[in-house]
Amino acid sequence: MKKLQGRTWFVLLFILLLLGGTGFLMYSYVTEGGEWVAFKANSHLYSNGQMTTGSLTDRNGLVLYDGETDSYAQDEDIRTACLHAVGDEYGNIVTGGRVLFRGYMAAFHPLTGVGESGNTVALTIDAKINELAYQALDGQRGTVAVYNYETGEILCMVSSPTFDPYDSEEVLIAVNEGDERYDSVYLNRFLSSTFTPGSIFKIVTAAAAIEELDALDSFSFTCTGSMELDDGEITCPSAHGDLDLAGALEHSCNCAFGQLALELGGQRLMRYAQEAGLLSQLTFDGVTSARGSYSVTDKDLDLAWSGVGQYTNLVNPCSMMALMGAIAGEGKAAAPTLLHGVTSPSGLPAAIVGSDSHSIGWSEETCQTLKRLMRGNVTGHYGQQQFGDLPVCAKSGTAEVSSSEQPHAWFVGFVDDPEHPYAFVVMVEHGGWGSKTAGSIAAKVLTAIAETE
Ligand SMILES: [Zn+2]
Repeated sequence: MKKLQGRTWFVLLFILLLLGGTGFLMYSYVTEGGEWVAFKANSHLYSNGQMTTGSLTDRNGLVLYDGETDSYAQDEDIRTACLHAVGDEYGNIVTGGRVLFRGYMAAFHPLTGVGESGNTVALTIDAKINELAYQALDGQRGTVAVYNYETGEILCMVSSPTFDPYDSEEVLIAVNEGDERYDSVYLNRFLSSTFTPGSIFKIVTAAAAIEELDALDSFSFTCTGSMELDDGEITCPSAHGDLDLAGALEHSCNCAFGQLALELGGQRLMRYAQEAGLLSQLTFDGVTSARGSYSVTDKDLDLAWSGVGQYTNLVNPCSMMALMGAIAGEGKAAAPTLLHGVTSPSGLPAAIVGSDSHSIGWSEETCQTLKRLMRGNVTGHYGQQQFGDLPVCAKSGTAEVSSSEQPHAWFVGFVDDPEHPYAFVVMVEHGGWGSKTAGSIAAKVLTAIAETE
């Protein structure tokens, strides 16, 4: 009897395993089928190692890539501006839509398999806004991105240098020959690169100072234009005089933020950079963004410069934009996404789209304070006029990268308005003064987006 019972249990266990395995297979078949079909061994779906079925459009239905005719948008500037969102002919841009969304483009149905013609995948970007951002960059290297922090939709995403995808072959040859015009051209700088942040990092130092040092009420500092430390000096472009925390942020005073960094210490600054999401990777739509870095040092001069966004600090533009969204949302926002919708050849929705949420470790109150300070930066310093009626909260950065080249120009922030819930990042490599170069690009793109509504 005992023996029989043992065997019964064994059979029962075996049946359970079988049922579980079958269930898992069915689940995977329905959820991952598109990706299996997109497997490269299905060579009839590919040309040049890239899928040629289905199509990619922008959020308004403007065709950016049509697999059936293997053709791109008609307008050259739109093709060039949307290159990193769409991808090139050889799949060298691994974060392009043609690679990321090939599973959706293949029009896989769990019952009927792969359809004759593929699905239409709509990206969240607005191609016309991308074109405007590309033109505003005016041939300079860098990135411009804007997303809706309530829905997560990335409306604008441009990376430069770029090229017309119809020139994919010539560019591949030029890249292999080391042509400097195409330096890291296959990288989407927004998603896959990191840069010295310079003064935009003062937002992190300010958050730490508000929470740890009660600096909003108690901090006062007199800037004489430089601050002597044991191993060197911190400098400002000019003497800023008497400042509180709001004034130090508005004038972007290096000496004041160097002083705050010394009071906070490297460990705490690193924790606040971590809580801001700047030291981790964001994952969405199959993309993993590049990770920023902050190094703790025991040298006073390096610590002071690290609080000013220099030293060895690095940030990824996408993580920075998500931080701006999270400050606007007082600690929590939608995570970015590039997928607007998938439509089958018969016109029916073919996938569920939506974004996850993205939260940071700073308190609601700290975010509210930062909003107020960043709003003050615009009204008191950068100038509201360029943004029309949009209540923009922002911080500029002018990041020194070498003594022989112009600094990187940054402008990051958000519109604090439920009607226009946009967060943005603009970074121009060697673009010079942040608020001037990058700020004017942000103003053009934000006002254009507001006009499209
Ligand atoms: Zn100063």
